[in-house]
Amino acid sequence: MTQETAEHASPLTVLAEDEIIFRDSVRAFAEAQIRPLVREMDEHAKIPRSLVDRLFELGIMGIEVPESYGGSGGTFFHAVLAVEELSRVDPSVGVLVDVQNTLVINALLRWGSDEVKRRYLPALAAKTVGAYALSEAASGSDAFALTTRAREDGDAYVLTGRKLWITNGNEADLFIVFATINPDAGYRGITAFLVERGFQGFSVGRKEDKLGIRASSTCELILEDCRVPRANVLGEIGKGYKTAIETLNEGRIGIGAQMIGLAKGALQHAVAYTKERKQFGKAIAEFQAVQHQLARAAVEVEAATLTVYNAARLREANRPFLTEAAICKVFSSEVAERVASLAVNLFGGNGFVKEYPVEKLYRDAKIGQIYEGTSNLQLQTIAKQLLGSG
Ligand SMILES: Cc1cc2nc3c(=O)[nH]c(=O)nc-3n(C[C@H](O)[C@H](O)[C@H](O)COP(=O)(O)OP(=O)(O)OC[C@H]3O[C@@H](n4cnc5c(N)ncnc54)[C@H](O)[C@@H]3O)c2cc1C
Repeated sequence: MTQETAEHASPLTVLAEDEIIFRDSVRAFAEAQIRPLVREMDEHAKIPRSLVDRLFELGIMGIEVPESYGGSGGTFFHAVLAVEELSRVDPSVGVLVDVQNTLVINALLRWGSDEVKRRYLPALAAKTVGAYALSEAASGSDAFALTTRAREDGDAYVLTGRKLWITNGNEADLFIVFATINPDAGYRGITAFLVERGFQGFSVGRKEDKLGIRASSTCELILEDCRVPRANVLGEIGKGYKTAIETLNEGRIGIGAQMIGLAKGALQHAVAYTKERKQFGKAIAEFQAVQHQLARAAVEVEAATLTVYNAARLREANRPFLTEAAICKVFSSEVAERVASLAVNLFGGNGFVKEYPVEKLYRDAKIGQIYEGTSNLQLQTIAKQLLGSG
């Protein structure tokens, strides 16, 4: 190896100076501003607007928005670090920031016209929460079987249908809504529209009562003859499937980040508790069986982190990352579930009650295997590549 290649082969977990500063600022914020609210937010199934405002002030609601639009001018990797650090403390806040950055802003940056960017990016960086509405009651994994209909009418499209499971539904003022302009055209009819909460015919319906990430709102959206100006088509007519596929491919690296953050949070709690809790006259961390369980969790967390950072770095380097993103999501969500489960075990009875933080992380971990493409769908992507049919 030449000196030059050695210098370029930077270790995956070594962060650049700006990344360290950024990560540390999000970490400090999460500890000081989010940690005290976690239990209350879970119990009330709500993230207070005052906290959302503070996320905006910190600059993490518009991480990749260029400074010329009032954003932070950061990178995709910064977004991954923010989601990880927030999720270490509360995966509900992690996913709010994740959807805003890796789905909504990402889609606008890539597919928005100059006019769309001028109109919406400054607001998204300053005060407007965004949501991403693809799923419907009868189309989840088979997302392109969606039935929300968009009919052309003069200088607008009129949208009718219902969306389900939409993260940030309660907080959002801007929704990327996928609808079909022609059901007979299959996926080629799908088009992405930017729908403002105030548009006539648009309303937010029922909020789901969930197992985990309870503070993150998950809502139904109702579109009844909702008139959307033609200028609010995001990307090209009939190319919405491309917008959806490409943003979700990147978004699932964000879910990987949410899951490694959660796993690190759970491990941190387990280490602290086992050093404190005494049985048989000594700290339970002194038992080798417990040490090995903690060590195994650390192995898994390290491996999952490498898969997430690798996918994120590949994406940032404009290299193919589809399989790596699927790998990072499958693996990190399984690791999060296992590590959170171990933390519950190591807390004993205290692991099973709400007074301690780990039962919540255990509940929160489950979602990683479901949204932004279930684990089965990720495995399908990996298998296609493996078998040469991808
Ligand atoms: C908390 C939460 C937040 C969400 N946020 C959003 C959001 O912001 N925006 C949005 O658009 N959607 C969102 N979703 C929807 C989410 O993406 C879907 O729930 C997910 O894609 C799965 O779809 P489904 O629920 O219809 O399950 P189904 O597609 O019905 O899947 C059920 C089971 O069948 C398996 N399965 C399905 N097809 C296959 C196949 N071909 N091969 C093997 N197994 C298969 C799945 O893996 C799964 O185990 C959210 C969901 C939840 C629960």
